[in-house]
Amino acid sequence: MRIPLIAGNWKLHKTLDESAQLVRTLVADLADLHDREIVVAPVFTALATVAAAVNGSTLRLAAQNCYPATTGAYTGEVSPLLLKDVGCSYVIVGHSERRQLLGENDAFINQKAKACIAAGLKVILCIGETLVERETDRMLDVLNRQVSDGLNGISADEMAGVVIAYEPVWAIGTGVTASDEQAQETHAFVRGLLQGLYNPEIAATTRIIYGGSVKPNNIDGLMAQEDIDGALVGGASLKAEDFIRIARFV
Ligand code: PEP
Repeated sequence: MRIPLIAGNWKLHKTLDESAQLVRTLVADLADLHDREIVVAPVFTALATVAAAVNGSTLRLAAQNCYPATTGAYTGEVSPLLLKDVGCSYVIVGHSERRQLLGENDAFINQKAKACIAAGLKVILCIGETLVERETDRMLDVLNRQVSDGLNGISADEMAGVVIAYEPVWAIGTGVTASDEQAQETHAFVRGLLQGLYNPEIAATTRIIYGGSVKPNNIDGLMAQEDIDGALVGGASLKAEDFIRIARFV
């Protein structure tokens, strides 16, 4: 019912040549996978190049960010309309690096999510608690706020275009992964939130993917969990061999 999704977030890495080389390898080596969705999110400047390479393949293109306006006086920003125009299917919003480094809050992230949906793009909405929030028993409140404020005004019908990425901040880029059990427990909690905000059908059909130091050696255990529908992969998505193994989870 929920098609697994493996997404590679290349963050601020790779030149045009490096991006082209990596995506060509992925397109060739993952062509036989039809039971899952594979997505890559290069830097903005490589989107057109990577779009050309994934065109006609099983891979889909994502942007790492957007600005919630269509056109206008927004120097330095890129709109969902332009991301669609370049060939994106998905946009990542609310990544913890943007929340922490650029001060993005839930209301702004919600505007981005709605702007993407309005432009016909799917959204990967990132949520996740910091270590301090987890250790001081505020994790569930934080996730509740991030989910309900992030999805504010998004209808049940529009939820078909939303994927939630649970990414505990303490696990991103640290080499520390949530255990299979910790991740499963939190995904089940988030699914429960969707049931409360929407209905049992939305809760059962919305994909909730895990992010935070996903590697070839931990993907299979994570994907075996009932409520984990895929992975958002940072560091390990930069190396073709590692990302291919992750995409080929069993
Ligand atoms: C991410 O960037 O979303 C991420 C999970 O990074 P990493 O896999 O490197 O922890």
